Amino acid sequence: TKHFPVRRNLRSLMSRTSSAVHAVDDVHLALRRGRVVALVGESGSGKSTVARLLAQLYPRTDGDIKLHGASTTVKGGRAFRQYATRVQMVFQDPFASLNPVHTIRYHLTRALRIHQHAGSDTAELERALHELLDRVALTPPERYLDKFPHELSGGQRQRVAIARALAANPEALLADEPVSMLDVSIRLGVLNLLRDLKERFNLAILYITHDIASARYFADETMVMYAGRMVEAGDSETVTQSPAHPYTRLLIDSAPDPDRIENMASDSTDRGNGEPPSLIHPPAGCRFHPRCPMAMPRCTTDLPTPIEIGDKPGHWAACWLYDEATVAAQPPGSAAA
Ligand code: SF4
Ligand code: MG
Repeated sequence: TKHFPVRRNLRSLMSRTSSAVHAVDDVHLALRRGRVVALVGESGSGKSTVARLLAQLYPRTDGDIKLHGASTTVKGGRAFRQYATRVQMVFQDPFASLNPVHTIRYHLTRALRIHQHAGSDTAELERALHELLDRVALTPPERYLDKFPHELSGGQRQRVAIARALAANPEALLADEPVSMLDVSIRLGVLNLLRDLKERFNLAILYITHDIASARYFADETMVMYAGRMVEAGDSETVTQSPAHPYTRLLIDSAPDPDRIENMASDSTDRGNGEPPSLIHPPAGCRFHPRCPMAMPRCTTDLPTPIEIGDKPGHWAACWLYDEATVAAQPPGSAAA
């Protein structure tokens, strides 16, 4: 859970109400090696906040982050330090994530020194640098090592950012919209690279995207967020082919044809009807109720919590259509007609 305090104005000071942006509320997720989990939602759904929480870039309001079962809460503690190496982030913007005044060699050498305590053996360091660029298919490496970021394309820069993450020999990558700023024509290549790396190094990958079509293509599991809450989760095939939550259906209906991955559009954010709600005063009950075509009276007052639905284990939805009492009588899909 992450709430951001809002600077209080005079009126709120006088009324003594404190307000906060409820960016992420009660989201649970597990990453496993060799698996990709997609976190899908519109801008403002809280998905980047989840990534930043997992990257420990800012503190949680509530909850815990564990690595192999050990809490990483204590800053500077052993588990925290392990976590900082084993979990690496790939940012959305490959133009901002590399320092323009330094060469690729500098960026990768620095990462190797920090994470692998690379010493002064220059031949060994050179081998490690070549190996890193090889892994992300920037070959021959000597063509790229002494270039500056501005001399590379966006896709090449994102590959360097991925190589830098790999320098830590990580178990998990947190990739926040890793291809959304790249040309449509090269997105698939970068996603395929990530998939190959997942296989080769048995990585856990969190893939954050607003594009549910790419989640189906790339991820084993998909979690959908709306207004800071998890609304549906399960294996990607189930969530994208038999979506249970009305919001997931809306996302799929408004997405480009999921079978045509090459169409992965950069502008598919916020295509659904209506606007995401305020996270300072989120709607009572189900946060999706103002936009939901299926809304019932109780949806405006009672918050639905995730329950396991349907006959596929691990398929979760937070929606009153799947009230525990009615799940058995009303399988997913039948409620949608
Ligand atoms: Fe719609 Fe109600 Fe389900 Fe929310 S709980 S998604 S408003 S039917
Ligand atoms: Mg974002």
